[in-house]
Amino acid sequence: MPDPRRRAAIFLDRDGTLIRDANYPSDPAGVAAIPGVAEALHQLQAMGFALVVVSNQSGVGRGFITEAQAAAVDAQFREVFSHAGIAFDGVYYCPHSPDAGCDCRKPLPGLLLRAQEDLDLSLADSFLIGDKVEDGQAAQAVGAVGMLVTADPERVRAGLASGLVVFEKLLQAVLAVRGIAKAPRATAIREP
Ligand SMILES: [Mg+2]
Ligand SMILES: [Zn+2]
Repeated sequence: MPDPRRRAAIFLDRDGTLIRDANYPSDPAGVAAIPGVAEALHQLQAMGFALVVVSNQSGVGRGFITEAQAAAVDAQFREVFSHAGIAFDGVYYCPHSPDAGCDCRKPLPGLLLRAQEDLDLSLADSFLIGDKVEDGQAAQAVGAVGMLVTADPERVRAGLASGLVVFEKLLQAVLAVRGIAKAPRATAIREP
């Protein structure tokens, strides 16, 4: 059920959704916002959503990049979007390798649950936008709406097969969020 006392969030994957996917990013100089993303985030911010980044960074746990490198990329990431007028309400990372057995690597919803506690969010009124099916599955695990933004045919197919809404551009997802958030019985269409 929607809970008017709690804020709804837009959970956002980072790599491949907000910035160019650099594959185990280690170099802050490689951080580049995807065109149109800042404008889309402005609109979501104006709609009153909390903006919460949830990102798998297994390069740390796999030993491909250091924690210091990950922190430098994170700092540059925040800087780029801060310059564009975007203030994230939270930025959460899973640094673990896939075999570590953690509860926060997407598709598991640990990062979303941590944010829910920290920011007092209503997950049933929240959305997650990512570029891989695992992103959407993390949303589904907590009853949020999962949306993919991708043009990759494999990912489109996997997303649709998992019951996710798929778009080519983030701005299209924002339009859909606007429509769903306004619907009076929105929860009815959030059932898997
Ligand atoms: Mg991604
Ligand atoms: Zn983890």
